Amino acid sequence: LNRRLDGHGTTIFAEMSALAVATGAINLGQGFPDTDGPEQVREAAVRAIREGRGNQYPPGPGVPELRHAISEHQRRFHGLEFDPDTEVLVTAGATEAIAAALLALLEPGDEVIAFEPFYDSYAACIAMAGGVRVPLTLRAPGFRPDLDRLRALVTPRTRLLLLNTPHNPTGTVLTREELAAIAELAVERDLLVVTDEVYEHLVFEGEHLPIAAFPGMRERTVTISSAGKTFSLTGWKVGWATAPAPLVAAVRTAKQYLTYVSAGPFQYAIAEALRLPDAHYEGFRADLRRKRDLLADGLRTAGFEVHLPQGTYFITTDIAPFGEKDAYAFCRALPERCGVVAVPNSVFYDDPDAGRSQVRFTFCKKDEVLAEAVQRLKRLR
Ligand code: PMP
Ligand code: GLN
Repeated sequence: LNRRLDGHGTTIFAEMSALAVATGAINLGQGFPDTDGPEQVREAAVRAIREGRGNQYPPGPGVPELRHAISEHQRRFHGLEFDPDTEVLVTAGATEAIAAALLALLEPGDEVIAFEPFYDSYAACIAMAGGVRVPLTLRAPGFRPDLDRLRALVTPRTRLLLLNTPHNPTGTVLTREELAAIAELAVERDLLVVTDEVYEHLVFEGEHLPIAAFPGMRERTVTISSAGKTFSLTGWKVGWATAPAPLVAAVRTAKQYLTYVSAGPFQYAIAEALRLPDAHYEGFRADLRRKRDLLADGLRTAGFEVHLPQGTYFITTDIAPFGEKDAYAFCRALPERCGVVAVPNSVFYDDPDAGRSQVRFTFCKKDEVLAEAVQRLKRLR
């Protein structure tokens, strides 16, 4: 492994899911639903395969049907206009969009400011691009960004702000005021913004606001999202980026040499999914909100300190009430102790103290699975 990838060995999600398989524990670690997305959408993929749509290399930027559907989605939910031919790029999940954006936009030595705890691919992709990660720590309780601190972190080497709202793992949803302040800073210091909004439809408190909609931001922002979360189809790996044509062209250049194109039949099916009526999106959100409250109550009863998330399908907890301080050791031992897998937030921080005792649980699971996990976690007391 080269020095750039030093310290990025195995992702925590793979490690903890392997632990769940090996021990037979309930996996509330890696974020993937245990109920597949809408049947109509799955059938659409089968139909596309049968009818020979997308079985051979689709166009590099994505099939036109999906690019149009993404453009319509951005208008319908966010009032943003993107030309489906030049301002939309389909990627192999949001993960590829993040990688391609960073590889395309960073020069070696460029600084990237990102919230920590950060989704693990940010750190690895900044490293692969030769960039320098500059963390802005979101601290418990509340996990709000310190905007004065953010301003102080900007240097002449800062190229890009890497945002994530709703934020994995803390569940923070940036407010209009926070986004306005970040946007103002980006304009003032002429920074690019790459914003990961994969949980855009999973907001339980407040509302999701895309930073691309703020004054002066459209021209400098790459917005990334994914069908994996919104339609409970994480295995399909359909993601996308929307941005002005020159930025999309840059990201597309990198994408060409990462995957060349993304899987064809799924693209047709996701084009249908994006056009589902509002009731689908609202129903999904209401269901997850209920699951959030179910798991949050259960975790509190089991003795955890709970940080209720405003969005995403994760709950960050603190294990201090158990007299424990090391989230990683706690998560390694948890399957053995009570048959549950979780993810230590500590690995998402550069600052070793900031998240040492934080543990994340996902609630995108069947009610009975959540209930059983809570019963098991109660044995910890
Ligand atoms: N960003 C965040 C914040 C995520 O939680 C995930 C989750 N998997 C991704 C990106 C990757 O999305 P995808 O599966 O579409 O690559
Ligand atoms: N985003 C998911 C999570 O945070 C996992 C995705 C992955 O395993 N790379 O759990």
